Amino acid sequence: MLRKKCICGEKNSNGSCKNCSKIKMIPLLKNDEFKINHSGTGKLINPVFYSYLKQNHKSNEVIITGMLNRFQKQPIYKASRYIDFYDNQTKTLIHRHEAY
Ligand SMILES: [Zn+2]
Repeated sequence: MLRKKCICGEKNSNGSCKNCSKIKMIPLLKNDEFKINHSGTGKLINPVFYSYLKQNHKSNEVIITGMLNRFQKQPIYKASRYIDFYDNQTKTLIHRHEAY
């Protein structure tokens, strides 16, 4: 069971953590408009989003639905072909949303 707080010290200001969040979301973008520069290589990559730590006790379905609802209100959604959701602890793909 994941704890509802960051235990690695790398928590983001928005309340998520690349290590301690339960779900990782990656939109697969149709073009470069919303891509970001990888901090190491400088190459353009798809942005990565992590679920809120305070939701770590919720089911994958509840977290994914919430993330998707928020994401669909943003301009980047229209630039997305798929939105992939991973179990952030096992790195397993658990859901792929088609963004048409
Ligand atoms: Zn952490």
